[in-house]
Amino acid sequence: MERTLVILKPSAIQRELVGEVITRFERKGLRLCGIKMMQLDDDILSEHYGHLKDKPFFQRLKDAMMTTPVIVTCWEGLNAINVVRNMTGSTNGQNAVPGTVRGDFSMSMQENIIHTSDSEENAAIELNRFFRPEEIFEYRKCCFDYLYASDEV
Ligand code: ADP
Repeated sequence: MERTLVILKPSAIQRELVGEVITRFERKGLRLCGIKMMQLDDDILSEHYGHLKDKPFFQRLKDAMMTTPVIVTCWEGLNAINVVRNMTGSTNGQNAVPGTVRGDFSMSMQENIIHTSDSEENAAIELNRFFRPEEIFEYRKCCFDYLYASDEV
């Protein structure tokens, strides 16, 4: 089983899409392992978006991510990182395929509703960045036997 991070950005909070987005991942069959609201600061965002530090929009992106608290979530499932990435859609909401979160709800490159981890390595780093170990919970979904065949898990 893989775990991945989804951040509901200020655009999700302000557009009142929190329930909508979480419902999509629940209905897909992913297990919610952790969820909390937090106010991000410049330090954690500089780490999180470190790969973009030389881009002209770096500070503007960080400022936008601090305009409201965000909701950080951890989801678990088979191949969860790719499954969630595919449900997210491409970075620019204008190009994202309909049916994806960004394809359905975003018109913007920056204001694109959610962040989702893009690799196994980054998922581990990012979950560790936003959650303490005791904030990630183990439990068995009662519908587990109807989410996967026995030879899949
Ligand atoms: P993704 O979120 O799809 O993995 P990136 O890691 O490339 O994409 O970028 C992180 C975030 O930075 C994007 O989700 C988006 O909010 C913002 N961003 C990326 N490129 C731009 C840009 N050209 N202008 C404004 N914001 C951008």
